[in-house]
Amino acid sequence: MRVGIGYDSHRFADRRKLILGGVTIPHLQGLAGHSDADAVTHALTDAILGASGLGDIGTMFPPTDPQWRDANSIELLKQAYQRVVATGLNFVSADITVILERPKLTQYIDAMRDKLAAALVTGTSMVAVKAKTNEGMGWIGRGEGVAVIAVAVLQ
Ligand code: MG
Repeated sequence: MRVGIGYDSHRFADRRKLILGGVTIPHLQGLAGHSDADAVTHALTDAILGASGLGDIGTMFPPTDPQWRDANSIELLKQAYQRVVATGLNFVSADITVILERPKLTQYIDAMRDKLAAALVTGTSMVAVKAKTNEGMGWIGRGEGVAVIAVAVLQ
């Protein structure tokens, strides 16, 4: 068994789509970033890369490389997982916590789990996604951005 942790944060910005866990969520703002800024998928990708000792998402898909501009992060997760599988490891499960003040994610959680699980060729029950606020504290509390923590288990 191998365990990995991933963390990501992105700043809210105007004229951007809000995409989390591969799901487009209606909101006044989206997240700034070189790719589609899907912080949930980025944190999970870092968790599986960490568990497998393959480095991190920034090294595998450098933001300085124009080919990753506006990249679909679910596709990056799939590519990263192919590299993981090539080392002889397989995905077992993940637990993800999304921290943001708004919008409420409740109605999108299961769709996010479906998308992430499909990218990892597993069932929805193996990917947990939880959302919470930061109780109004700090930069998350002021609605400046979102933070995500992900833990992944590989075998
Ligand atoms: Mg990111």
